Amino acid sequence: MLKIREDACKKCRICMKNCPIEAIVAGEENGQKYVRITDKCVECNICRRVCPFGVIENADQTEGMIQCSSCSVQCKIPVGSTGACKRYTNEGGKLVRNRKLVVEPLPQVEAAENIRKPIITAVGAGTNYPCIRPAPHIVCENRDGVDVVTTVTEAPLSYSGVLVKLDTNTYIGEEGATVYCEGKPVGMVQTEEYGSKMIYVGGANRLTAKDGGFATARTICALANGEEVELSVDKKIKIRCQQGKAPVINGVEEQTMRIGCGSATIGLLADVMKEAVDECIVIDHHVTGLFSEHLAGREVGMKWSGVIPNATKSTVGRYFGGHGDGIGGTVLQTPRDAIKSVDMSVAHAGMTILVTNTTGEIAALFEVQEDGDVKEIPMTEKAAKVARTIHENCQSSMTSVMYCGGTGGSARGGVCKHPVAITEAVHEGRAQLTIGGAPAFVYPGGGLNFIVDTGKVINKAFTWVPTPATVAPVEYTMTKEDYEKIGGHMDRIKNVKDFPEYQK
Ligand code: SF4
Ligand code: SF4
Ligand code: SF4
Repeated sequence: MLKIREDACKKCRICMKNCPIEAIVAGEENGQKYVRITDKCVECNICRRVCPFGVIENADQTEGMIQCSSCSVQCKIPVGSTGACKRYTNEGGKLVRNRKLVVEPLPQVEAAENIRKPIITAVGAGTNYPCIRPAPHIVCENRDGVDVVTTVTEAPLSYSGVLVKLDTNTYIGEEGATVYCEGKPVGMVQTEEYGSKMIYVGGANRLTAKDGGFATARTICALANGEEVELSVDKKIKIRCQQGKAPVINGVEEQTMRIGCGSATIGLLADVMKEAVDECIVIDHHVTGLFSEHLAGREVGMKWSGVIPNATKSTVGRYFGGHGDGIGGTVLQTPRDAIKSVDMSVAHAGMTILVTNTTGEIAALFEVQEDGDVKEIPMTEKAAKVARTIHENCQSSMTSVMYCGGTGGSARGGVCKHPVAITEAVHEGRAQLTIGGAPAFVYPGGGLNFIVDTGKVINKAFTWVPTPATVAPVEYTMTKEDYEKIGGHMDRIKNVKDFPEYQK
């Protein structure tokens, strides 16, 4: 367990607020305030990391504790206590997952097969405006003995934008940084999502902004329609992107999406690394991994090599890499920069250290010298195999564009007289929402907020109006029986066979 140096402790209780298992207590004794760590402590080290005064240190081991190895925190859990995540309990000397395995799946809301596809799409349909008018086309066809209806309209959506996913490690700016197109602010950098950088272009506030509203509408549509667009982050980092193509960042075309973070790379390929080198540092902007210290390294029989990587330690074998324009989106400009120092009381001369990134595209081999310095040496076949295996397990870099919108007025008024009825029908799986023929994922909760992969939408389906709003082809498909139940415009239903454009 850990203990607090009582004489130096300022009694601020920050540690207590952060302890995940309430193992820290505070009170008053003989007129003196105290903050103490109890024997429930599992050594997760959170309190030590948050204490602003550095007064928390190691104490004696708690009797009967079991070290959990289900993650790199490695809690030492005393009998009767749970680990920091509260998932594992030491029950009388046995570490158990304290929740029963759930084997019964929840009932899924899923549209029936015969309403999954629209009868026709809304592309080219025109718009019902004002919203009180029925949708431009309400069509019916018989599918396997069931009458099915699709209503279609090209709906102006003020709440709309695109989420652009760029499969790359390359630094594109910090979260929240402004994204420009045509010199106007059109969006911002979002959080990263495992191996991809995310940019959001649009949204109601950007679309209605005095400066850049029209540029935003043009940019959303261009991206959603699969056109090539040049964006810039903070007017410094240039990103050329197009649905389905590799992004080009500052003139360099991205090739490969990483296999995972540095820790995951070691976790996946520890056995290959063991065969090749004494140590391996996998550089990554999120988590840089140190093979010999990592739990996966231990799993294949490694012990810490004495190598100290140039990054901030998180947990065993895992280090925060920092953000920058260097290797793997870090500040490290060369593989040599990844090695901070070598502790020669553990390491020995002649040890080999492979430094690679998470795509295996950059790799260099080093040898530890007598004085603790390292020297680059030619790659061995086995070391090259590590980098090759990483590379072979990576996918090609791509740009994906997801259109996000919320259907409110014409896209519901055109369907039925009580707009909430179509909203509920979609949420209950009685009606299917598609955008230009592609199935949309509808967010849970109120309203009809959706996201759709524009790579699956009919070509050039998006337009914009200078309100400004983007115009999306919106289709709802349901059985004729359900359409009548939600108060649909029954007198406007036409048989699809009556459309001159209809070809079977
Ligand atoms: S955070 Fe540090 S100084 Fe504050 S109460 Fe805890 S141990 Fe004491
Ligand atoms: S090490 Fe973790 S469990 Fe122990 S007192 Fe600190 S925060 Fe609580
Ligand atoms: S899985 Fe939970 S109990 Fe186990 S080491 Fe990690 S945080 Fe601790």
